[in-house]
Amino acid sequence: MNPERLTYFKGRLETERDELIRAHGLHEQDLRDSHTSEDIAGPDRASELDEAIVESHIVESQERLLEKINHALERLGEGTYGICENCDCEIAEARLEAKPSVSLCVDCQELKEAG
Ligand SMILES: [Zn+2]
Repeated sequence: MNPERLTYFKGRLETERDELIRAHGLHEQDLRDSHTSEDIAGPDRASELDEAIVESHIVESQERLLEKINHALERLGEGTYGICENCDCEIAEARLEAKPSVSLCVDCQELKEAG
């Protein structure tokens, strides 16, 4: 990949990471807020718990995405960005364009999802 494209994807990844960290911070705040009503037993208790569970799932998936982005940025630094981690082929740029944090080519991703 040429240096201009690498700089472009680096920018995309950094923007995505910054947005995620901002959103992530907000969700952590939501989780803390929901805990303040812990001692109040009432009809809304169950739905509040459900909300807290949904929030924690969101945080988990954000953490996973953040890890992927950081990993992609590391690979950018090492000069292996855009190379499939499984088969060492080049990942199509259209695929990276759609999701800059991917580390597998389409074939390997499909294999992985198929189990
Ligand atoms: Zn592959």
